Amino acid sequence: MGIADFDYVFLHQEVKDMRVVEQVQKSLPQNPIKLIQDVSEAMAFVNQSSERQMIQSGKRILLLNNHKGNVIKYCPAKSPGCYKCCNLHTINLMSNCIFNCAYCILQNVLNSPLMQVHCNLDEIFSELDQYDLSLNEPVRICTGEIADSLALEPILHQAKFLVEYFSSKKHLFLELKTKSDQIESLLSVNPQGKTIVSFSINPEHIVKTIEFHTASLDARLNAARKLIDHGYKVAFNLDPVIRYEQWEEHYDGLFQELSHRFKPSEIAFVHVGLLRHTAGLDGLARQRFPGLRLFDEEFVMGPDRKLRYPKPVRESMYEFLYSRLRSWHKSLPFYACTEKADHYQKFFDWVPGNDMDLNRHVLSRMV
Ligand code: SF4
Repeated sequence: MGIADFDYVFLHQEVKDMRVVEQVQKSLPQNPIKLIQDVSEAMAFVNQSSERQMIQSGKRILLLNNHKGNVIKYCPAKSPGCYKCCNLHTINLMSNCIFNCAYCILQNVLNSPLMQVHCNLDEIFSELDQYDLSLNEPVRICTGEIADSLALEPILHQAKFLVEYFSSKKHLFLELKTKSDQIESLLSVNPQGKTIVSFSINPEHIVKTIEFHTASLDARLNAARKLIDHGYKVAFNLDPVIRYEQWEEHYDGLFQELSHRFKPSEIAFVHVGLLRHTAGLDGLARQRFPGLRLFDEEFVMGPDRKLRYPKPVRESMYEFLYSRLRSWHKSLPFYACTEKADHYQKFFDWVPGNDMDLNRHVLSRMV
């Protein structure tokens, strides 16, 4: 899918802040924007004959509307009690994604199949202003938990507005999480050290076979290099790390690629997350991507109701990944997503006491 491949573009009448809308009009002249009073008018264009078709056709319908309710939330991976959390917060400026990763959790968690972009940036900024004033420690705010932060950037320029906004915030850091290479709009803005662009990366074999329509690994790493050269902080998400026959060889190749292209001092942090999924996602993904082998491994249910590799498997994977990260650089900040205190006891020489401890570790090269 090219970025301009929408079948329809709808504008909800509630949208008052026209910044994003004007940008969309300029970027998609071939898609006249239809004004609607109610979301059902856009839903009528979604092919609802099966869940599989509904997901795919919803991705091709762009709806510009406003975000409702509180903007700032905890990262959806945060779960009660037992897991060590990095205190990541999110703002949902978009909901859904034009990419098609076979493991994508959005396939069975979104309420609406439409590709929604929320345009009320002024209201969102005013909530962020209040939040910034209430803090006395840095907090990362990410836009890429139920969307890809940059996939639509050439037609929205929304991330550019955000980088400008965050550049003057006292305690807030923006994290843009992406599997794209759509960074051109960011190159004209000075982030003032307040934006981290975090690239989710996997070996090219994974990118080609199950991260459909995303940028190639090479393109993502080239984009990372350009951003560093323009004064941005860059991080990497090794997430989801996937186990398959040649995974060690392929991830070794990925680490070699990273060490050839980047000095460890150029990287803000590395986030490591192993494949996990919700019940039902495996069946849906098999329907959408016939022949998919990803979920054929053994998985166990965790306290957060997510399925993950059994602990001995996870530990052997972490041992491999951490040894590569440590040999790249011994003080590179890295951390695991949703693991317990005993994980830090086993693999690190410290155990984060609370969310802020891990947050300080993650941001140690930013402040
Ligand atoms: S890039 Fe992220 S949000 Fe988009 S399809 Fe892939 S996993 Fe889902």
